[in-house]
Amino acid sequence: MSIFNKIVGDPNEKYIKKLQPVIDKIGGFENELEKLSNEDLRKRTDEFKSRLEKGATLDDILPEAYAVVREAAKRTLGQRHFDVQLVGGIVLHQARIAEMKTGEGKTLTSTLTIYLNALGGDGVHIVTVNDYLAKRDASWMGEIYDALGLSVGIITNDGSYLYDESYAKKSLDVDDQTLGISVTDALDQERDKLGSFKVEVEFLRPVERDEAYKADITYGTNNEFGFDYLRDNLAQSLDKKVQRGHHFAIVDEIDSILIDEARTPLIISSPDTESTSLYKTFSRLVPTLKEDQDYNVDYKLRAVSITENGIEKIEKALSIKNLYDPQEGGGIRYVHNLEQALKAHILFTLDKDYVVKDGEVIIVDEFTGRLMPGRRYSEGLHQAIEAKEGVEVQKESRTVASITFQNYFRMYKKLAGMTGTAVTSAEEFDRVYKLDVVIVPTNKPLIRESLSDLIFRNEDSKFKAVVEEIKRRHKLGQPLLIGTTSIEKNEYLSKFLQKEGIKHELLNAKNHEREGAITAQAGRLGAVTVATNMAGRGVDILLGGKPQDKQEAEEVKKLGGLHVIGTERHEARRIDDQLRGRSGRQGDPGSSQFFVSLEDEIMRVFGGERIKTMMQTLKVPEDVPIESKLITNAIESAQKKLEGFNFDARKHVLEYDEVLNKHRETIYKRRDKALEAKDEEIFAMAQDSIQNYFGNFLSFHLGGDYKEDWNVEEIFEELRAILPVGGDVHKQLQEITKENADPKIIKQHFEKFVLDITRNALEEKNKEIGKDNFIKAIRWLILRTTDILWMEHLDAMHFMRDTVRLRAYAQRDPLIEYKNEGISMFRQLKDAIGAEFVKNLFKLQIHQHEPRTREPGFARTTVQGRQQQINTPTATNRDNKNQNPTGLTSGKGKKVGRNDPCPCGAKNKDGHPIKYKRCHGI
Ligand code: ADP
Ligand code: MG
Repeated sequence: MSIFNKIVGDPNEKYIKKLQPVIDKIGGFENELEKLSNEDLRKRTDEFKSRLEKGATLDDILPEAYAVVREAAKRTLGQRHFDVQLVGGIVLHQARIAEMKTGEGKTLTSTLTIYLNALGGDGVHIVTVNDYLAKRDASWMGEIYDALGLSVGIITNDGSYLYDESYAKKSLDVDDQTLGISVTDALDQERDKLGSFKVEVEFLRPVERDEAYKADITYGTNNEFGFDYLRDNLAQSLDKKVQRGHHFAIVDEIDSILIDEARTPLIISSPDTESTSLYKTFSRLVPTLKEDQDYNVDYKLRAVSITENGIEKIEKALSIKNLYDPQEGGGIRYVHNLEQALKAHILFTLDKDYVVKDGEVIIVDEFTGRLMPGRRYSEGLHQAIEAKEGVEVQKESRTVASITFQNYFRMYKKLAGMTGTAVTSAEEFDRVYKLDVVIVPTNKPLIRESLSDLIFRNEDSKFKAVVEEIKRRHKLGQPLLIGTTSIEKNEYLSKFLQKEGIKHELLNAKNHEREGAITAQAGRLGAVTVATNMAGRGVDILLGGKPQDKQEAEEVKKLGGLHVIGTERHEARRIDDQLRGRSGRQGDPGSSQFFVSLEDEIMRVFGGERIKTMMQTLKVPEDVPIESKLITNAIESAQKKLEGFNFDARKHVLEYDEVLNKHRETIYKRRDKALEAKDEEIFAMAQDSIQNYFGNFLSFHLGGDYKEDWNVEEIFEELRAILPVGGDVHKQLQEITKENADPKIIKQHFEKFVLDITRNALEEKNKEIGKDNFIKAIRWLILRTTDILWMEHLDAMHFMRDTVRLRAYAQRDPLIEYKNEGISMFRQLKDAIGAEFVKNLFKLQIHQHEPRTREPGFARTTVQGRQQQINTPTATNRDNKNQNPTGLTSGKGKKVGRNDPCPCGAKNKDGHPIKYKRCHGI
C-alpha cells in the first residue's frame, strides 16, 4: 500500500492522536515560561543552541522550543498557537505536507518549525507565492523571531531586506511624543490590526542579497529562490554567490508552486541575433490553413501537427520546393516555427492564456489568473503569439540557464509544505516528491455548506442565473465572492453586474497591486467581489472586513457568512476546493455553490454530449437548471480523469527534465570546484584536462599496432597549434617513432614526451605572467569554457527533443531516444569543454588588469574553435545529411526519392505511409 493510501481516513487520525503527548508536553512548559522576562525568554534560544552543540537533537528540544515560540507569539502578536497549530508545526518539522484549511493560520503555525530548524544556523527558507506575501509574512512574523533573537531576511524581485525594528523608527519622521505612545508601539499596533494586507516596509531595511540569505530565516518567492540559484551558477567568483546551501525549505501554498507551476521552468535567457521576420510570415500564412486537412489539433494534449498537405501549401505560398531543405526552406527550424505559429493561432486565446499590455504579450497563469510579466513561453511560441497579435516580435532569446521548480526544490536536504488543498493531489506529492500529506483538523468545526451544483444547458442561461443569484443574495447584504476561470469571464460577468447597477470589485491579474486590500474587504456587508480563480490567495477574508468590525461581523454571520459562487468547474478539484475554502474560515458560517453549463470547457472535453442527451430526454427547458447527483458525479469523474491526465503530462516533463538535470548537476559541481579550488588544485585541474585531452588525442592518432597507421605528423601539428613548440620537437617525435621497441612501449614514450612538453609549457607560462595571474586566468578560462558550451548544450538538447518527438512516428519511444542521445551529447560536451580549455590555455595573455569577464549570457563571446568542437546532432548536422538521400532502394529495386514512402514502412495516424523526408529526413 502506498503512503497516499494511508493518509486518508483513520490512519490520518491515528497519526494525529499519536502526537497528543507531545502537544501536552508543549503545554506543560507554559506556566514556567509565562513567568520569564522578555530577556530571559530570548536567552532560551542560546540555551537551545548550546544543547544542540552538545549533541541534543531537534526532536529532543522540540516541545520546549515550540512552547517558547508560542509564548513569544502571545507576547508580541497577542496570538497563542492553537493546539492544532502545534500539530501542524510538528507535521512540517517531519518534512511532510500539512493540509490546513484557509484561515487556519498557517503563517503562525510555521513559525514553530521555522524557529526550531533555524537554531542550527544553516538557514531556513520560507517560500511564498508572491513578493507581497514574502514581505507581509516576514514583517508580521518577524516580531516573534526578533523577540527570540533570530534574524529574518527577505528576498523579492525588487530588492532584499532584513527585518529591523529600529529601522522602522528611523524611517518615520515622527517622535514618540507627538504620537503619545512609542513609535514602535504605534506601528506594532497598526501592523497587528492590518497585518494581513498592509505591507509594512517600515520594518524592512534594504540590504545586499547575500545578507538576506545569511539571516537565520529567509522569506522569498519560489521565483526568486530559483533565479538566485541559477544566477549563483553563473557567478565568476565565490563572493558573487548569494545563497549558502539548501538546508530546509517550507513551501507555503505548496500545491500552487509544485503542481500548478511545475510545467513552466525558470529560464534565464539573453536575446539572440536571429531574424524575427519568419514569425510574421508564418503568422500571415497560418490562417489560410484548414483544420483536419492541413493540420491536426489535439485539444486535450494541446498539440498541433502539420500534415503533408499543409506543408505543401506553405511551400507553395513561399514558392519553395522543400521546406525541410536547409538550403531552401531552412530545415527543422522552419517547421518548428510553423508549428509554433499554428499553436499560437489555434490553442492560445487572448485574455485567457495571455493578455496584451503596453505592446507586450504577458502570460496569464492558467490556475491563478495572475499575470506573469517577464515569463515567456519557450521555444519560439512567445514570438509566434507576438506575431499573431501584431505587436513587436522580440528577438528570439537564448537560454543561458534553466531549472524546473521540481528540481530546484528537490535540492533541499529537507522539504515541507503547507496548503489548504493537498489531499486530492496526494498521489503526485508522494510519487514525485516523496512527501506525504497529513490533514490537520480545524481548530473549530467547519460549518460551511457546500450546495450541490446547478447545471444549465448553455453558458448564457448560466450567467443569467448567476446574476440573478447575486442580485437575490446581495439585496440581503450578504457578502459574495464569485470565482471565474479566466479574466475574460471575469470581465464578462462584471459587465452584467454593471448593467444591473450592482457595485462590485473586480479582482484579476490586471490590478493585482490592490489584490490584497480588496480581498481583505471581501467579507464586509454587501461586498461583491468577482475574482479569477484564486486571485488574492494567501489573504484572509474576515467577516466584517479588516480590521474587523465586530458588530458588522455579527450581522454578516446572521446572513450566513460569506457565500461563494463558482461559475465553472476547474480541471482540478483542488482549485475548486480553494475557491470554496475562502468561506467558512475558523468556524464561521459560510456557503458555496457552483454554476455549471454544458458549454463549459470541462464538459466539452469530457462527457458533455452524454449529459446533453440526458437533459434532452428529460425535456429540461433551457433556463431551468437541474441539480442531479448523476451529473455532479459525472463532472467529478471527469475532473479526476483530467487530473490524472495532467499529472501524466507533468510527469512527462519531469522525465525529460531529469536527463538535463543530471547534466546540470555535474556541470554546476564542476563550476563550484573551479570556484572553490585552492591554487594547487587549480593547477591540478588544468593538468588533468591536458592529460585527458592529449590522452584521447594520442590514442586516436596512434591507433593500431602498426606504425604505418600512426599519424605522427598530425600529433606534431596539433602540438604546434596549441603550444609554442619548435622544429626540435618534430625531430624528437620522429626519433621516438623510430625506436625499436614494442609499439605499446613506444606509445608510452609518446605520452610521456607530450606530457613533459605540456608541463614545461605550463611552467613557462607561469613564469611569464606570474603565479597569481595565471591562477586567476586558469580559473576564469575553466568557467568561461564551461558556461559557453553549457549554453550551447542547452540549445542543442532543446532541438534534439524536438527531433526525437518526430521519431514517435517511426514507433520509437522518444523518451528513450532522448535519454540515449542525451548521454552521448553530454559526453561530447565534457570532451568539448576540456578541449576548448586546453586549446586556449597556452594562449592566455595577461594585460595590466585581470582577464575581462563579460557576464555570460548577456553577450555571446566566441571562443575559437567552438564550432568544430561541438559535434552534436543539432539541426544543422541533421539537415546536411538530407542533401543526399541515402541512396536507398525500395524492395522493387527502385531508388527511393525524398517524397516516396519511407522504406521502413512507418505509417502515420491515418494509416498512410510516411514520406521518406518526414520519416528520417530530419
Ligand atoms: P492561512 O494561511 O492558513 O489561510 P493565515 O495565516 O493567513 O491563514 O491566518 C488567518 C488569520 O488567522 C490571520 O488573521 C491570523 O492573524 C489569524 N490567526 C491565526 N492563528 C491565530 C491564533 N492562534 N490566534 C488568533 N488568531 C490567529
Ligand atoms: Mg496563508
